[in-house]
Amino acid sequence: MTNEPRQLTLAIAKGRILKEAIPLLAAAGIVPGEDLDRTRRLIIPTSNAFVRMVIVRASDVPTYVEYGGADLGIVGKDTLLEYEGDGFYEPLDLRIAPCRLAVASQDPGFAALPRLRVATKYAAVTRKHFAQKGLQTEIIKLYGSMELAPLVGLADCIVDLVDTGNTLRANGLLEVEQICAITARVIVNKATMKTKHAVTVDLLQQLERAANGPA
Ligand code: AMP
Repeated sequence: MTNEPRQLTLAIAKGRILKEAIPLLAAAGIVPGEDLDRTRRLIIPTSNAFVRMVIVRASDVPTYVEYGGADLGIVGKDTLLEYEGDGFYEPLDLRIAPCRLAVASQDPGFAALPRLRVATKYAAVTRKHFAQKGLQTEIIKLYGSMELAPLVGLADCIVDLVDTGNTLRANGLLEVEQICAITARVIVNKATMKTKHAVTVDLLQQLERAANGPA
């Protein structure tokens, strides 16, 4: 027997990932102790006495986990690709919230423009993607509704998440290129993996079983 600490804090990205993570967590025996739509509490106890959850903006999940504010996180690969730090492990693909990071434009010939203006929330991934193709870009950083930018002449194309493609179609945009497939991943603080090893591995195994189980 070891005297390892056992309490784990799990940070989950708000929105689609949270919605899709809830049934998976329930299958792993973790049910929030509060109504998430109503509660104002920021730290939510769960049916597993050793696990509590915090629900934060996607882009904050890696920060919480890297600096130990949370032991584990559930967040999209898009957010991880954009995050600069590397203070965590990424041991598990939950395969929820699937979508793709794609380039979209009104004009399929946009790449012939001398200096592309690309509107995106994903500046680092976008810069790298176009640099690999030898294309110079001016990144126009936006925080939401990227699809609007080409429509009002703010950008030549966008880099954004696409799922059904309905948002692009509804706005007359074409998906020109897929950059990569995206799903939600579990990340783990590096120190947690050492100091709370047994309980962390146990939770990861339960989550993996839930992710592999019947939908
Ligand atoms: P869709 O119309 O189904 O292609 O969805 C596109 C819109 O939903 C875009 O505004 C995306 O930013 C957003 N979106 C798509 N998939 C995801 C996801 N897995 N997580 C968060 N936002 C997403």
